[in-house]
Amino acid sequence: MTSIAVIGAGLAGSIAAHSLQTSAKVTVFEKSGRAGGRMSTRRVESYSFNHGAQFFTARDPEFKDFLKPYIDQNIVTQWNPRITTLDPLDRPFKRIWYEPHYVGTQGMSALAGSLAENLDVRYRCEIASLKSIGKKWQLQDTEHNDYGEFDWVISAIPSAQALNILSSKLQQHAEIADVVFSPCFSLMLGLKNKPALGFDAAVVKNSSISWLAQTHSEQANSYGLVIHSNNAWAKTHIDDEKELLQEQLFASAQQLLNNSLQDVQYAALHRWLYAKVETSAQQDYLIDRENRLAVCGEWCRGNRVEDAFLSGFKLAEFLKTQL
Ligand SMILES: Cc1cc2nc3c(=O)[nH]c(=O)nc-3n(C[C@H](O)[C@H](O)[C@H](O)COP(=O)(O)OP(=O)(O)OC[C@H]3O[C@@H](n4cnc5c(N)ncnc54)[C@H](O)[C@@H]3O)c2cc1C
Repeated sequence: MTSIAVIGAGLAGSIAAHSLQTSAKVTVFEKSGRAGGRMSTRRVESYSFNHGAQFFTARDPEFKDFLKPYIDQNIVTQWNPRITTLDPLDRPFKRIWYEPHYVGTQGMSALAGSLAENLDVRYRCEIASLKSIGKKWQLQDTEHNDYGEFDWVISAIPSAQALNILSSKLQQHAEIADVVFSPCFSLMLGLKNKPALGFDAAVVKNSSISWLAQTHSEQANSYGLVIHSNNAWAKTHIDDEKELLQEQLFASAQQLLNNSLQDVQYAALHRWLYAKVETSAQQDYLIDRENRLAVCGEWCRGNRVEDAFLSGFKLAEFLKTQL
């Protein structure tokens, strides 16, 4: 049976591995301790924060079909927040969503997590390099451990990280180098009491903040807030001290919310270097058949969760015809 290594257990890598496992022996390598990637959920004390992707839409029929059983099993659910627009220079106004928006019922990582349950995933294994051995690839992690030999390698990680590993081994490396991401800071606040905001989520204009969303855990009766910086602000402050940025984002939030954030019990800032794809590779995936290397991820085709799914899914469908 053909052996395939998939680097990265975000949605793109998880769906590619899931689709291929009927046709090949698939092993997934994931640097963190769980699947989900940027569809991530941080659980700390009694709080739970979706500090990466906030929700996703499903426009493509293949993605809609894929989601159906997950919606039936209540792993994914439609999200209907009270959503508003906040602007320090203007009055707030209610937003209307014209299409369904979805979230993981127990957190955004649930979808990839559910796929990964039936996959052979090696967690806490950060792949650093590939070595060509005859017609096979050998993977090596950052601790210089080797992980057997594979016929194919699929990279399902952000473009710059993919280049670090594949670099000139992949014929299309120049197309990957043209992809542009912008960063984002995510401030997570755990609160003792539910703030009286009058909305569940807000799009923010004319501020260092671009998005605010409340989280609420029924079991723990705890309230949290996720605050995303805007991408341009994050780019300007990318190497600033975290404590300073945390203070600045908190001050902007208090200004927007009329100082309604009281009794903050937990605060943490996360820096996302690869938050929003500004320039994609404008392809579903990249494949180098001669060298048996392939690349998927949302950045191949767009900047959303649905793009990650379609990139990984379409790559797997094509690869199955080549095995
Ligand atoms: C702050 C933020 C907000 C967002 N908001 C939204 C939103 O509201 N709606 C939306 O549709 N999209 C949103 N997105 C984008 C969405 O999260 C991504 O498009 C999608 O999750 C990308 O999935 P992926 O599988 O391509 O990559 P990732 O999710 O990045 O998966 C890559 C995986 O590879 C692992 N990895 C990386 N390097 C290695 C290595 N060397 N070895 C092993 N493993 C490795 C990582 O740990 C990760 O698990 C947001 C992203 C961010 C950061």
